[in-house]
Amino acid sequence: MRAGADRASGADPGPARLDPAAVERYSRQLVLREVGERGQLRLRAASVAIVGCGALGSPAALYLAAAGVGRLTLIDDDAVSLDNLPRQPLHDEGALGAGKAQSAARRLSLLNGAVQCRALRRRLVPDNAGALLAGHDCIVDGSDNFPTKFLVNDVALALGVPAVIGGVLAFRGQVLVVAPGGPCYRCLFGEPPPVGRVGSCRTAGVLGALAGIIGSLQAMEALKLLLGIGRPLAGRVQEYEALSGRWRQVPFPRAAGCPACGGHSR
Ligand SMILES: [Zn+2]
Repeated sequence: MRAGADRASGADPGPARLDPAAVERYSRQLVLREVGERGQLRLRAASVAIVGCGALGSPAALYLAAAGVGRLTLIDDDAVSLDNLPRQPLHDEGALGAGKAQSAARRLSLLNGAVQCRALRRRLVPDNAGALLAGHDCIVDGSDNFPTKFLVNDVALALGVPAVIGGVLAFRGQVLVVAPGGPCYRCLFGEPPPVGRVGSCRTAGVLGALAGIIGSLQAMEALKLLLGIGRPLAGRVQEYEALSGRWRQVPFPRAAGCPACGGHSR
């Protein structure tokens, strides 16, 4: 079995079988040979940290909660604003002004009351990242800035927890998985670009549907990791260009001397 649900965080795993309501709820995924009751119990025992409850975190969190992942830690220090709503369907008009993490927890608990949501109105920074991300089976990065993505990469490698990192800008999106041992985000991109060198969604714009695609892909990769099925997007970056409708997958090696994953080969 893969690291994933087995490493999980020591919480009560619950009954060894699914109850009739869970069998009904998850019936379409239970019939998948790769999931089944055993996989569903793994999801129920699993915990995922979601960094950023915005454009990428919205679809990622919705699909992970809907699929029955037992515990979600929602990390975001921002509040819901009107200009979030076109691309952050986790939030609604009733949540304007509320913390995004709290708004996310409220919505996800309505979607699936069995999911334990922990809402943290915190910004992930080097001083708290190790403590906030430890104890999870997977980390989903839905942040909107390079320093946070590099931080998630470095801390995930240090903790030995896989991370699914996504990004969107204008009409382009990408996803990669950083598995323990690398190759990693830093192998691909080197150092965070100087502030202002690369545009942000605020200046370059983005359509919500693109973030929906990329965030959903992140949820799918996280589910694969938790279930121990398929081949994760590790050492490969999946790119999507919406205007042409083209998908492209680019393999990349571990960078020689990478300071984040170089010393963790296994
Ligand atoms: Zn690396």
